[in-house]
Amino acid sequence: MIYERPNTVSEAVEILSKSHEKKSILAGGTDLLVQMRSGYYRPSHIVDIKNIPEATQIRDDGDTFLVGAGVPGAQLSEHVELIKAWPGVIEAMDLIGSTQIQGRATLGGNLCNASPAADSVPAMIAADATCIIAGPNGYREEKIENVVTAPGVSSIANNEFVVSIRLAKFKTGRADAYLRFIPRTEMDIAVVGAAVCVLIDKKGICLNAKVSLGAVAPTQVVIETAPQILIGTRLDEETLDKLAKAARASCNPIDDKRGTIEYRTSVAGVLTKRAAKIAFDRAGGA
Ligand SMILES: Cc1cc2nc3c(=O)[nH]c(=O)nc-3n(C[C@H](O)[C@H](O)[C@H](O)COP(=O)(O)OP(=O)(O)OC[C@H]3O[C@@H](n4cnc5c(N)ncnc54)[C@H](O)[C@@H]3O)c2cc1C
Repeated sequence: MIYERPNTVSEAVEILSKSHEKKSILAGGTDLLVQMRSGYYRPSHIVDIKNIPEATQIRDDGDTFLVGAGVPGAQLSEHVELIKAWPGVIEAMDLIGSTQIQGRATLGGNLCNASPAADSVPAMIAADATCIIAGPNGYREEKIENVVTAPGVSSIANNEFVVSIRLAKFKTGRADAYLRFIPRTEMDIAVVGAAVCVLIDKKGICLNAKVSLGAVAPTQVVIETAPQILIGTRLDEETLDKLAKAARASCNPIDDKRGTIEYRTSVAGVLTKRAAKIAFDRAGGA
């Protein structure tokens, strides 16, 4: 197995473009190394992105932050401006694993591992985040909801990698929240994850909203009817009940020992409603 640690994006792309062997990007390694150790996957080539400045820094890009795909969770949860702008994304990332895992695990790895239960992915979707992808033809930018295409499968080609995640800067009246349900108190995979982002005016009227669910379908779900349910309201009880109903209707979950279809569907409604209330309060609507 060959291990390489490029210093620039173009060096990394060059390595990724070279051969057709089984190549893997290494970010924190908290998924990749577990998969390799368990014999589930054995790449012939590992490309470690942690020496690439664009992938390991949180940069200011005008109205947005560019969060390097290789920045660990621990660093994100200490970034005051990001916490202020995206408390939901940061709390979703912070739920991943333990203190040790937080020192390694990244947003980029959580996204590209393409698990339907990945905690940060619904939160990034609700935040309308995009990712910057580098490949042989230069850079392209993709909405987060277009990255995971099936369990364990992403739309990132073999000769591409995610360099950074773009998140908007703080905006008054906008806030997000993420809640998940796990059968244990921690260190478990979401049975359901719900992320909500709302933008409200000074009177508490909803101007915009985006809602995404995890672990209830083969890929993360965007509740398409959420904006029309929430916009123009103060997220009163009746509105939130409609949102919960829409959340349940958008579920297509698996049935396994960790939760039946009925259970996951019901929890999706409950969590979506609660996350919406939290986002609304954070936005100043309480
Ligand atoms: C004990 C433990 C607890 C965990 N708990 C949770 C949890 O609660 N919630 C949760 O969602 N996950 C959990 N995970 C899974 C894992 O920690 C997360 O998915 C983490 O965010 C992965 O990030 P990473 O940087 O370690 O990814 P890596 O392991 O480095 O990479 C994961 C996959 O993505 C690819 N990849 C990584 N970065 C890029 C990139 N920039 N561009 C293209 N491809 C890339 C890799 O090749 C690999 O296939 C847990 C894992 C462990 C071991």
